[in-house]
Amino acid sequence: MARLIVVPIVLEKIEKDVVVAVADYVEQFYSRFGLHAVILSEIGIDNFSVEYNWNRRQFLGRTFLPTLAQIKDTLRAGAALGITDADLYEKGLNFIFGLASPYLKVAIISLHRLRPEFYGEINNGELLKNRAIKEAMHELGHVFGLEHCPNPKCVMHFSNSILDTDLKSREYCDNCLKKLKEVFK
Ligand SMILES: [Zn+2]
Ligand SMILES: [Zn+2]
Repeated sequence: MARLIVVPIVLEKIEKDVVVAVADYVEQFYSRFGLHAVILSEIGIDNFSVEYNWNRRQFLGRTFLPTLAQIKDTLRAGAALGITDADLYEKGLNFIFGLASPYLKVAIISLHRLRPEFYGEINNGELLKNRAIKEAMHELGHVFGLEHCPNPKCVMHFSNSILDTDLKSREYCDNCLKKLKEVFK
């Protein structure tokens, strides 16, 4: 069985229970396609040659992907999902919840703007896990070739804000699931 490695990339702090919840959910779904989720030990962000923007106080998301791909290739894993607490952006976007490369077979999600505290909400422990699972499933969908879906309940719907993330489910809609099954056929 090919491995899907889950890599915590730490700036300050990543909750272990969130990483476990994401890995469990991903395993539960992607094992049907022969992927087995494995959590790696935490890696400090300083091990990644990432680009930091001092004015924005954010990291350029795409600069995480080459190192992630290297780790994935070294371990001969099928895919890699990075989870970071760093705030990410992309050119032309104020921020991103995550990004993916179908070519490199890697993705990363940021917990920074998924945290209830970021919005002055109360952290009941479950909300962050739920949001992280949705963003992980979304980016992994991209890794395996899915594009954005017009169905607001589908996990492949684009999240402009946390409201979109909260509105969508953790699941791929029938359409997206069909495409995914084609990819793994
Ligand atoms: Zn997307
Ligand atoms: Zn869909």
